[in-house]
Amino acid sequence: MIGIFGGTFDPVHYGHLRSALEVKELFGLDEVRLIPCYQPPHRDQPKASATMRLQMLQQAINHEPGLIVDSRELDRAGPSYMVDTLKSLREEFSEQTLLLFIGSDAFENLTRWHRWQQLFAYAHLVVLTRPGYAIKTLDSFFNPRLANAKTELSKTPAGSIFFQPVTQLDISATAIRNMIALKQSPRFLLPDAVIEYIQQQQLYQTQ
Ligand code: ATP
Repeated sequence: MIGIFGGTFDPVHYGHLRSALEVKELFGLDEVRLIPCYQPPHRDQPKASATMRLQMLQQAINHEPGLIVDSRELDRAGPSYMVDTLKSLREEFSEQTLLLFIGSDAFENLTRWHRWQQLFAYAHLVVLTRPGYAIKTLDSFFNPRLANAKTELSKTPAGSIFFQPVTQLDISATAIRNMIALKQSPRFLLPDAVIEYIQQQQLYQTQ
């Protein structure tokens, strides 16, 4: 089973990294692919270039076993639609179960994603929630797809939705960028190697 964790990663921080590692272990995944978007279709353009965001991810992961930085959205260019990314992963891994991880904030907006229903043809969706999160009433699209146990997911390659509580770290890239612009230290919110990169490249100096 392969995990997929997409994001802007502007910059990557311990909220992303801890979640990626936790789900790798919880679901017994062979690998989790962290995929920086080239051009986010649903939000403001990132402050750092796609190449810089990719390099920050590489610095952050630093050969952690099972975590892989995947540059396919940069290689494709244009707007980064997750449905295209999953299609290309499915072509590469034709037999594997694919798990797409998203935060519960991203899940709130899922139905605005380009061809969002098609995501389920390629992968299972795993929504990362706070411990104690109550699953809201799901509509007639999601309800029949709800898996009750994570062991169900490995039985099919795609098509289900599952809610997985993970340790919550209240860290956001926006807060980190703001801190840097205010000349406050972001230390202990993201890896030192990423902080060094930000300093070298003089990123996020203004709000
Ligand atoms: P920004 O503040 O710029 O919006 P962000 O910190 O939310 O950025 P993204 O790169 O937009 O980070 O998020 C990528 C994915 O990681 C999304 O699915 C998001 O829900 C999830 N995520 C972001 N922050 C956390 C966190 N602290 N813990 C767990 N998941 C997170």
